Amino acid sequence: MKAKLLAVVLAAFCSQAMAQEAAHWSYEGDAAPQNWSKLNPDFMLCEKGKNQSPIDIHGALKTHSQPLNISYKLAPDSIINNGHSIQVNVKEGDVLTLDGDKFVLQQFHFHAPSENTIDGKSFPLEAHFVHMDANGEIAVVAVMFETGKSNPEIEKIWQHIPSQTGQTAALREKVDLNGLLPKNLTHYRFSGSLTTPPCTEGVRWLVVKQPMTVTVQQLNAFTSVMHHANNRPQQKLDGRVIVSE
Ligand SMILES: [Zn+2]
Repeated sequence: MKAKLLAVVLAAFCSQAMAQEAAHWSYEGDAAPQNWSKLNPDFMLCEKGKNQSPIDIHGALKTHSQPLNISYKLAPDSIINNGHSIQVNVKEGDVLTLDGDKFVLQQFHFHAPSENTIDGKSFPLEAHFVHMDANGEIAVVAVMFETGKSNPEIEKIWQHIPSQTGQTAALREKVDLNGLLPKNLTHYRFSGSLTTPPCTEGVRWLVVKQPMTVTVQQLNAFTSVMHHANNRPQQKLDGRVIVSE
C-alpha cells in the first residue's frame, strides 16, 4: 500500500517536473513543432486549433487596395537572442491603425526560412512586427526578405546580434523601422495564430506583398546565430478566407 502511494506521489511529481521541462519548446528534437501540444496542456491549440499559422497564401479574394496605416517613429531599444528567434524590443508608442483601432508595436523578430509562403513560394527570411491593442488583441505585420541588396537598418541591428541564447544587447545606433518596410504596403490579410506556443488564435495577420532584400551575408549572420531553421511547418487553411488588400 505504501509502495503504491509512493508510486502515485512520484508519478505526480514527475509529471509536474515534465510539464515544467515541457515549456522548453523547440524547432528540433523531442520538443519540435509536431510535439508542441504534448509538451504542456496550455499548448493544446497547436494541435487542435482550426485557425493556425503559418499558411500558404493562395486564392486570395481581391478587395479595394487598402495600404496599411503604419506609423513607426521610435528607434528600437535592444536586441535579444531568446533561442527561438532574434527579437528586437521597442519603446512603446509606434502604432498600426487597423479596423479603427490602435495596435501598439510590442516587438519584432525574424524567421528563416519564412513561415508563411505566397503561392507556394518560400522566402529566405520573414520579419514579424507584433502589435497589441488595449484589449490584448494581436495584429502581426509580416514582411518577406529575398537575398539581394543590403538592408542598412538590418546591418545596424545585426551589429549587435547576440550569439548566445538569453543574451541581450543595446541598440546604440538609431534604427529607422521604416527601412524594414517596403514603400508599397498592399498586403494579404487573414485570421491566424501565434506561430509559437501557445499558438493562440484570433491573430490578425497582414502579410505585405512586396518583399524587401538582405544580402546573403546578412541572412547568414542570422542563421549562424540561430543554428537551426526557426519556421513552424505550414498549417491547414480549414475554410479560412484570405483577402488581398
Ligand atoms: Zn514570428
